[in-house]
Amino acid sequence: MTQLQLNPHLLKVPLYIAGKSIEEVQEELGLDEVVKLGSNENPLGPSPLAVEAARQMLSEAHRYPNYWEKVLRRRLGAALDPDFTEQNILIGNGGCDVLRMVTHGFMSAGGGMITASATFPMFSILATMFGGQTVEVPLRADYHLDLPAIQRAVTPATRMIFLCTPNNPTGTIISQSEADAFIVNIPEQVIVVFDESYGDFVSDPRHVNSLQLIKQGHNVVSVRSFSKKSGLANLRVGYAIARPEIIQYLHHAQMPFNTGSIALVAAIASLDDLEYQHQSTALVQAERTFLYAAFDELDLTYIPSEANFVLVTNLPVDARALADAVLQKGVIIRWAGSMGLPDAIRVSVGTRKQNQEFVDVLRAVLEEAKAVA
Ligand SMILES: *Cc1c(COP(=O)(O)O)cnc(C)c1O
Repeated sequence: MTQLQLNPHLLKVPLYIAGKSIEEVQEELGLDEVVKLGSNENPLGPSPLAVEAARQMLSEAHRYPNYWEKVLRRRLGAALDPDFTEQNILIGNGGCDVLRMVTHGFMSAGGGMITASATFPMFSILATMFGGQTVEVPLRADYHLDLPAIQRAVTPATRMIFLCTPNNPTGTIISQSEADAFIVNIPEQVIVVFDESYGDFVSDPRHVNSLQLIKQGHNVVSVRSFSKKSGLANLRVGYAIARPEIIQYLHHAQMPFNTGSIALVAAIASLDDLEYQHQSTALVQAERTFLYAAFDELDLTYIPSEANFVLVTNLPVDARALADAVLQKGVIIRWAGSMGLPDAIRVSVGTRKQNQEFVDVLRAVLEEAKAVA
């Protein structure tokens, strides 16, 4: 490597730590049954309509995709807002790819990025990749993003602000009034990215509608994903919404054919599957309540969540050791340390059976820890 001129920005990029897969844990621990509640996947599996659409498209695997991207953009534009069209939509190979294109578009060497201290790690990874410096603003005491403090952190070097709502890993949201007060104080050279990968799960009517901010002409990009509520994490489809001139510009950061038609038609079919959408929301809402009750009974503190995961904080034992002990018993959850909260764990909302298994394992691990202490 010594002869090679390495990219100095890339050398500084930390690797993204993904949640463990079921197969990996089965292999490592020799377990037959593994429950995965570590990556906020949809426990219902994909929509049957999406599976059928993808299956039919397989026989076109020899063709380059382009028609279906246009169809998805058109469908999304029309579904989101009467004022929006395909020109407001950019499709990516998952939400992360969209975040990459947006960062490529607006970050360059010496630029500043501001985000929360406990949020999705890809924001600072991407800013670093394109030569930026990240400023992390601490969360409020109630684990919400502190928008006034983020605004005060803006300097002339600031290029981007990443706001995740609901925020991963806290599940907390930004309200419309917070966003309205914030956006008017952000200078014109700054792009504000709303990561709304979990937006479809929100039931709180105060949640910010970032499309309104876009319509008002603010420098806002909203990023959404088919991975979570639409249950297509393995097919890699996400999108950005912004004013047409911003989308037009971001196309320059897009690789040709960045999503395949198999994934695109599955995404379109999942938009059509209202029954599945409804089931996904109903399951998450009911099962979040089930988990809250279990945490109350175990005397654990949790942050009320608007997403399909719950953060458990102030644990009586070391959070990382707890997540590992739970894993040893076959349930994958996430230690929130890589997301800025070393004293917390994050658990995805699963089916009742999966949640019950997690709660049983958690109770056993906590009791064993108590017995040792
Ligand atoms: C899951 C997730 C994404 C996007 O995931 P993709 O699978 O790439 O669509 C983006 N942001 C956050 C906060 C996420 O949790």
